[in-house]
Amino acid sequence: MSDGVDELLQGHRRFRRKALTQEREFLRRLASEGQSPDALVIGCADSRVVPELLTHASPGDLFVVRNIANLVPPLAHLDASVGAAIEYAIGHLHVPHVIVCGHYGCGGVRAVMEQSPHLAEFPSLHEWLGLAKEAVHRVKHEDEAAWWRAAVEENVVEQLSHLTSFPLVAAAVEAGGLSLHGWVYDLHSLDLQVYNVETDTFLPASALAGGPLLQER
Ligand SMILES: [Zn+2]
Repeated sequence: MSDGVDELLQGHRRFRRKALTQEREFLRRLASEGQSPDALVIGCADSRVVPELLTHASPGDLFVVRNIANLVPPLAHLDASVGAAIEYAIGHLHVPHVIVCGHYGCGGVRAVMEQSPHLAEFPSLHEWLGLAKEAVHRVKHEDEAAWWRAAVEENVVEQLSHLTSFPLVAAAVEAGGLSLHGWVYDLHSLDLQVYNVETDTFLPASALAGGPLLQER
């Protein structure tokens, strides 16, 4: 898929051919009935971390926002893009779950660890990644690999706390109509680590029996 836009358009033709024959009814219903997704996913823009693929979700299942390092600017922040998605998904679509999904090996988190001088050449990126700085440096470790993993996890937990700066999130959680989830995807093992708020640790999804993952469809 990396050889250019022609390949993408060819891919679209293959998608359309398959969808028109095998999934026509499902997609027709989806188009006419509107969306009612199971979850809002706030994930990293990294091209390898595709929420629909790793959850085996279908069109209509997930309302997705992806940005560098899966960040949630607090309500007071000037960037309103993520906040707008949060308000629409919770206030209008009434999704019952919000999932912040990070991944080990995240380049955005790495850039924050390194405080790379190159970031000065990218003012928007520099400003954006500032939102992860506190969490990443809170778990600083001499072992770089251990720090990177811990920083990715801490960043997800930090973004969960930013979510509750939105009054409608806090109110929906309080009323029992909304659950917040923190996930970290491992590109090597393909496993998902799920945040457990009671123990403040991440546990492999494969070890959870009917835990906070989305239910099988
Ligand atoms: Zn990333």
